[in-house]
Amino acid sequence: MKKENIFVTRPTLPPLEEFVPYLQQIWDNKILTNGGPFHQQLEKELCKYLGVEHICLFTNCTIALVTALQALRINGEVITTPYSFVATSHSLLWNGIKPIFVDIDPITLNLDPAKIEAAITPQTTAIMPVHCYGHPCDVEAIQKIADNYNLKVIYDAAHAFGVQTQTGSLLNYGDLSVLSFHATKVFNTFEGGAIVCHDAKTKQRIDHLKNFGFVDEVTVVAAGINGKMSEINAAMGLLQLKDIDSALQKRKVVDAMYRQLLQGISGISCLQNTGEKTANYAYFPILLSQDYPFSRDELYQKMHDAGIYVRRYFYPLISEFPMYRGMPSAAFANLKVAHQTANSVICLPIYPELEMQDIERIVNLIRG
Ligand SMILES: *Cc1c(COP(=O)(O)O)cnc(C)c1O
Repeated sequence: MKKENIFVTRPTLPPLEEFVPYLQQIWDNKILTNGGPFHQQLEKELCKYLGVEHICLFTNCTIALVTALQALRINGEVITTPYSFVATSHSLLWNGIKPIFVDIDPITLNLDPAKIEAAITPQTTAIMPVHCYGHPCDVEAIQKIADNYNLKVIYDAAHAFGVQTQTGSLLNYGDLSVLSFHATKVFNTFEGGAIVCHDAKTKQRIDHLKNFGFVDEVTVVAAGINGKMSEINAAMGLLQLKDIDSALQKRKVVDAMYRQLLQGISGISCLQNTGEKTANYAYFPILLSQDYPFSRDELYQKMHDAGIYVRRYFYPLISEFPMYRGMPSAAFANLKVAHQTANSVICLPIYPELEMQDIERIVNLIRG
């Protein structure tokens, strides 16, 4: 029997017929973009669902990251993590900002607060951490450093949709948090993203920046970009939001199943859930140690050969790509934990429809 290929993720989609009435409305009112009714409604509903004060929708997370840095007028040097998707650092280069890489914590795999201070120089203006895999950064420690040195904090929260801490939404920490609604993320609008901010004035500035800098018909206040989300994407978001709780619940079951079945396999460890009240189970990374009989790449190949398309997120490190490699902070000795992690990680398939028998097949391959 030919077994079906399994990919690291599979986008959640609503029934097509439920999307048709939204399309009908767009065709009727002829409003396709520029902050139309679905755009406005999605901003409102997301604020409510996520538990945040203000949100600005974007065409994708990368443009939102670039705009977030501009909204706070960040320049000079920004401290960030090499253990992320390349867009995190690319958003700095697009603003002419120098990324300064700091190593990660071996437990959370997020920026290690204990190592931030040593990387601060007179040019440092901000910290851009990532809530990697949706696991919260040490937000209190990072804020303390930011306060001491008068730095801004912009979280790349592309993985952190819906994550709640003991005190509310994780997205309320820092000056800004930036979300991705890309097809591969837990909540998708096909392509999309958003900036979460804390006050109406900042929201207004971001809304100007994402619309070429226009304030009104004749006034342009900044060299803004076109970062607007279209009505089709916003409509998809409204529909996806109806089902998000059940999707997250199904992910939780997959996560628990993996943890149970992987227990006791020598040389394999799962990431601890760290401090969050509600996780989003966006990814399921495992780390291989010396005790595992195969190398990480051998296991990766074995799984691909069996039609299970696991991914090595995040290998290579951002600091290894040519546009970053020569920077002093990209040196191996500065990023030992990140290198060790990048060389031992595999992200297993996780999505709401992943079936029990698939999970067993995956774990049996790992068990060997
Ligand atoms: C997906 C992702 C992005 C980019 O998101 P897009 O919406 O595809 O632009 C940025 N940062 C991280 C950490 C991501 O995982």
